[in-house]
Amino acid sequence: MELLSPVTQIGGVGEKTAKTLQKIDVSTVKDLLYYLPRTYKDLSTIKKISEVKFGETAFLEVKIFTQPQVKRIRRGLEITSFQVTDATGIANVDIFNQIYIKNNLTVGQTIYLYGKLEFKFSKIVISAPEIYFKKPDNPFLPIYPLTAGLKQNMMRKFVKDALYKTELKEYYSTGFLQEFKLPDIKKALHDVHFPNDIETASVARARIVFDELLVFNRMMELLGEEKRQKSAAQLTDVQDNRDDFLSRLSFELTGAQLRVMKEMESDLTKDMAMNRLVQGDVGSGKTVIAFYAMHCMYEAGFQSVLMAPTEILAQQHYETAKELFDQQQIVCVTGALSAKSRKEINAKIADGEVKIIIGTHALLYGNVKFAKLGLIITDEQHRFGVKQRAALTGDKSDVHTLIMSATPIPRSLQLVLFGNTDISIVDELPPGRKPVKTYLIHQNKYQDMISFIKNELHAKHQAYIVCPLIEDSENMEAKSATQIFNEMKQYYAGFRMALIHGKMKNMEKQEIMDSFCAGEIDVLVSTTVIEVGINVPNATSMVVINAERFGLAQLHQLRGRVGRGSAQSYCFLVSDNESAYERLRVLTNTNDGFEIAEQDMQMRGTGDILGTRQHGTSTLKVANLIADIRQLEQTRDVLKIMKKNRQFAQEYRAITQAARRELKNKMIEIALN
Ligand code: ADP
Ligand code: MG
Repeated sequence: MELLSPVTQIGGVGEKTAKTLQKIDVSTVKDLLYYLPRTYKDLSTIKKISEVKFGETAFLEVKIFTQPQVKRIRRGLEITSFQVTDATGIANVDIFNQIYIKNNLTVGQTIYLYGKLEFKFSKIVISAPEIYFKKPDNPFLPIYPLTAGLKQNMMRKFVKDALYKTELKEYYSTGFLQEFKLPDIKKALHDVHFPNDIETASVARARIVFDELLVFNRMMELLGEEKRQKSAAQLTDVQDNRDDFLSRLSFELTGAQLRVMKEMESDLTKDMAMNRLVQGDVGSGKTVIAFYAMHCMYEAGFQSVLMAPTEILAQQHYETAKELFDQQQIVCVTGALSAKSRKEINAKIADGEVKIIIGTHALLYGNVKFAKLGLIITDEQHRFGVKQRAALTGDKSDVHTLIMSATPIPRSLQLVLFGNTDISIVDELPPGRKPVKTYLIHQNKYQDMISFIKNELHAKHQAYIVCPLIEDSENMEAKSATQIFNEMKQYYAGFRMALIHGKMKNMEKQEIMDSFCAGEIDVLVSTTVIEVGINVPNATSMVVINAERFGLAQLHQLRGRVGRGSAQSYCFLVSDNESAYERLRVLTNTNDGFEIAEQDMQMRGTGDILGTRQHGTSTLKVANLIADIRQLEQTRDVLKIMKKNRQFAQEYRAITQAARRELKNKMIEIALN
């Protein structure tokens, strides 16, 4: 079997399974071998209750301490509960719907549990663990990310067969492997799937990550070389424009905003293309900076594009633009447009009749032709797509580019991703902002919070209620949002309320958002669709239900939706999961996005061997830029050594070739959260 053979050559994989495997981007034997376990089930080490951290999954040897009791919660939900102990502590076990299990359990009996320990309502709880009545024979097993139609056992069998039947050849020289202390690829691939312990797995994975990051670093280098050579419209007399622009604003700019504007001016007056990332915490006032750049281009007769991640945000930028520019010169390209008006707008863009073009990322790709494009701005980018710009400019015209982001990027990552990009930081908030007060809300404080918000509403302020994040299921998410909306309707009878979720039509979402912005809705219940950029200064309360399901950075972004006016704002993180409190407390302690990002990284830990797999066209299949940041730095150094050292010339050529191939074939997309 060859690496590039189709998966159907693997024992047990028929046409149907092959189709299922395609859903997880596995179509060749190679794809399968590089489809790494998400984690491992370690049934080799028995842990003590007292030594397991909350939130950790562990294997325990325990004695049944209390007689199992069955509780019927509602139709279709029955819970069997009992306590277990191992002399270091007592844990409460909940089993869902398998009531027959009760008959196999007696007080005093020894059983083995594999499950996650959590701290809820001041008790140690293990929900839905796997129960073993004797020690398992196969104690260390890979766990793969699955999709409907796949099972762990099937995957394990396929991978075993593939490893057995494929001849895996090492592509580095022995000298190279020795120099950088790497295991042979054959061993690495075997060990990453079927290790004896976690250390072996981690060394094996590191080899695979090494390969990917080496190519990735080289790609970034090549891109940098390419970009440095670009030229773009050179402007003159921009200073005159600045005063004119400032006079149109209703506020004084902060020192940080002015500094960044000047940094941009100096880019735009050079004959090289501007390539700048503007980073600033939520609410720091990046929009006005973007519009200033558009203004400069406008005065010089060039068109500019501002791309927003959502239609709602595009619409909002459009409204702001109307206050700053000649209305006839602005267009907003959204999905709400009819085919006819879309065509008209495209014609105006092609004629050069309009100069300020605002829209969503998606809508601006494709058939739009520009008369005289000078600048592309991407707002609120969490994903940095390198080829996106090329798609927009047809790879030909050289334009200035500006990226606006509230996502803090650690310094060493900046070096690789933006080695040839200039970075401006907006490190000051507009005056008069009061830091948002953030509280953790446990069940017993829930009603207090509800009444507190009622007072805010009586004071004519608005509130956001964000519903639990349910990954991979928009349907479930919508359902749970609807439930919460109905619950809230009872608490806030008499106030104007609306619900937004991902299953609704864009038009409908847009209308609700507009009314909320206009102050016609008091309470907006929504899924995370409001996460980015929305600006409603009169909203002072933000509630996040099941806050433990969100990442810290995401919660910080959500919180940034309030505290945008002069009134005191509040953020309530509702969670009954006390295991998550340590993490969530970072948010109650600071409002500084960079600090939150740092702490988030530290808490996720580098010992964590699982990298989140990035789906789709991403170049990085195994490596994760944040979790594997040490290795990113290391491979950067390795690349330098390879370049200098003739002994590695062959490897260097191979890496360069691979990097060129990737650059040509794929859209490079780097997700940072
Ligand atoms: P972000 O950096 O998150 O994109 P925005 O650009 O949306 O922030 O700005 C947030 C709010 O602050 C907007 O209402 C904007 O008009 C206002 N704003 C921006 N700069 C200033 C300033 N210098 N003084 C007062 N308000 C400002
Ligand atoms: Mg913004």
